[in-house]
Amino acid sequence: MSKSSATLALERRRDELTPHIVQLSPHAWLSVAEDVSNVGMIVGKDGIILIDTGMIPDCAHRTLEKFREIAPAGTLPIKAIIYTHGHGDHTGGSPVFCAGADRPEIWARDNFGAEAAPFEHAGLMPLFKARGAMQGGFQLPPDMRICNGIAPIRYPRAGGAVFSGKTGAVMPDHFFSGDSTSLTIAGVELWLFATPGETDDALSVWFPEEKVLFCGDNLYRSFPNVYPVRGTGKRDIPIWCQSLRLMESLEADVLAPGHTDPFQGRELVHEVLTRYRESLEYVQERTIEGMNAGKTPDELAAEIRLPGNLARLDYLKEYYGNVAWTVRNIFNQYVGWFDGNPLHLYSDFTPREEALHILAMAGGTGSLYRKAKTALEQKDAPWAARLAEHLLVLNPDKKEFLLLRAEALEALAETMLTATGRNFTLSTAQKLREKAQKK
Ligand SMILES: [Zn+2]
Repeated sequence: MSKSSATLALERRRDELTPHIVQLSPHAWLSVAEDVSNVGMIVGKDGIILIDTGMIPDCAHRTLEKFREIAPAGTLPIKAIIYTHGHGDHTGGSPVFCAGADRPEIWARDNFGAEAAPFEHAGLMPLFKARGAMQGGFQLPPDMRICNGIAPIRYPRAGGAVFSGKTGAVMPDHFFSGDSTSLTIAGVELWLFATPGETDDALSVWFPEEKVLFCGDNLYRSFPNVYPVRGTGKRDIPIWCQSLRLMESLEADVLAPGHTDPFQGRELVHEVLTRYRESLEYVQERTIEGMNAGKTPDELAAEIRLPGNLARLDYLKEYYGNVAWTVRNIFNQYVGWFDGNPLHLYSDFTPREEALHILAMAGGTGSLYRKAKTALEQKDAPWAARLAEHLLVLNPDKKEFLLLRAEALEALAETMLTATGRNFTLSTAQKLREKAQKK
């Protein structure tokens, strides 16, 4: 089977995500793609400051080794670590950086961990972790994962614990509240700005003397991840756009994201921040318009696409965030689950009953199975997957049906650029195959 354009694009992205160090300015560096997240370093007169830590201890060791070639350990201890937000892929490497004699201050916003907190409160961490592992594709063989859209493939030992910054990380001991604060560490003046966006606890680190802005996950080389398929609470687009405006106003020469390569050059940085914000505003505005026109999330998700001038930009392609999921999320945030179709107000019409009707129309199980097979042969993977679902609702353990749905989902995944959706789909197919094997 020849590779789809989505697969080829993810392979190209994977090749960009090889570990490398980028010098951002005379005293700032960024370790890109060594770990799941980037790690920044600013070298001051008597110490260094790290921005985020990556996630995986082995990767953190390698990052530290590379940084120590630039900033020797004996003379330049780690004075501070700043967490841009509470996701575990930015905090999990911290024990490695805190293991020596250095006693770094660890800075974060005072609402650090805000995204995971409601899940923890509600007792939903098992679901959060299970879906997180599926979107990360942790159980998939490496050739199936390709890359994570904005991050290279790494296998955390505690699979699935990516999204709670409290797992295996050294907790922050210095917090700031309000809009901003200024610090002087190792003789370096830094500003921390509250920039809620991808997460509510997000901050940006501004190094004014060399005009470098570390923006965490409020921007990376992909359409923004307004809705991760593992599930999330509100990711508010107007607030995210406000933060992007604040970031624009700093007129940075270098923009260092939490994932993927930095952007260098004042004009480019300005352009990228502007286009990024415009992409979010566009999707928000089109969705609100459509909602007021009485359209359903299904209709809007199928209809809304970025305009050509934004869609052609590589840093706005849907490697990680996805426009259709964003549309659905906007609808859901404002209106909740009811999409306006009155049939969905009646929970007693179950998938089983629908399947029985479909089966009768198709002329029985054998005929429905053949139709699904034909759809698959004709490259109509979504329809094949849907028909296989009907067959499985009525016969949840039948090997042929499990394998048919797995095959249809794999064909569907091949067409998906957004890595997390692709991983989730392939992980579901893998579970079906495992179940079929036991039959
Ligand atoms: Zn991240």
